[in-house]
Amino acid sequence: MGRLTGKRALITAAGQGIGRASALAMGAEGAEVFATDIDANALAGLDGMETFVMDVRDDASVAEGVAKAAPDVLFNCAGFVHHGTVLDATDGEWDFAFDLNVRAMYRTIRAALPGMLDKGSGSIINMSSACSSVMGAPNRFVYGTTKAAVIGLTKSVALDFITKGIRCNAICPGTVESPSWHERVKALGEEMGSYEAALEAFVSRQPMGRVASPEEIAALTVYLASEDPAFTTGQPF
Ligand code: NAD
Repeated sequence: MGRLTGKRALITAAGQGIGRASALAMGAEGAEVFATDIDANALAGLDGMETFVMDVRDDASVAEGVAKAAPDVLFNCAGFVHHGTVLDATDGEWDFAFDLNVRAMYRTIRAALPGMLDKGSGSIINMSSACSSVMGAPNRFVYGTTKAAVIGLTKSVALDFITKGIRCNAICPGTVESPSWHERVKALGEEMGSYEAALEAFVSRQPMGRVASPEEIAALTVYLASEDPAFTTGQPF
């Protein structure tokens, strides 16, 4: 018997990176996993779980996906990293990032919460970042602002439903190795004239002297999805 046996877990952006690692880790702990992404091809190879396309920027797609999954656990993982300072950002980039990184959580939670309230239990896990209200990072103006909003959203949902069996927590990782992170290193490498220098710039600002693996973050999502932290809600981890 796994720590998540009997639980239905809906995961957004499960095609790659932290979302994919979390889908696999939750499945290994016995959860019935509903692994979703906007990219159908990215979901290939996630055996032993239900996979389907769900675009978290689309209300109808979210409503359909949530109805199918009827989740006990909702992991809102989808997000996008905008690169640049306040002087680089455009209104369009700001709107896109807020829609994908924050409003999408409003969409999924609004859709999933009534079912959780009917059951009298539910765990919502929202992907924030160390770059948020926790700390600033270079060239992460839009990104850090959206991820700070995720912490506010998390605390609000947690408090409003604290006596109804619902827990809502946020996770705030430092840099994690993932396909989009590799793209960010490549892009910075082009700016700096060397991939190695870009890699060094990313790694040197990590207090642990290395970046995390997606599996190390997935372990935290399993913990928050389980009943072990039954008295823990509204917290950024
Ligand atoms: P990633 O960025 O490599 O993958 C993102 C996934 O999101 C892709 O599979 C993509 O298809 C999917 N996606 C994009 N738009 C979508 C939409 N509209 N609907 C559904 N899915 C969509 O993965 P990652 O780097 O592990 O990042 C996942 C989350 O973790 C993001 O919210 C990110 O901000 C956050 N995060 C990442 C790091 C890091 O260093 N990698 C650190 C802290 C937080």
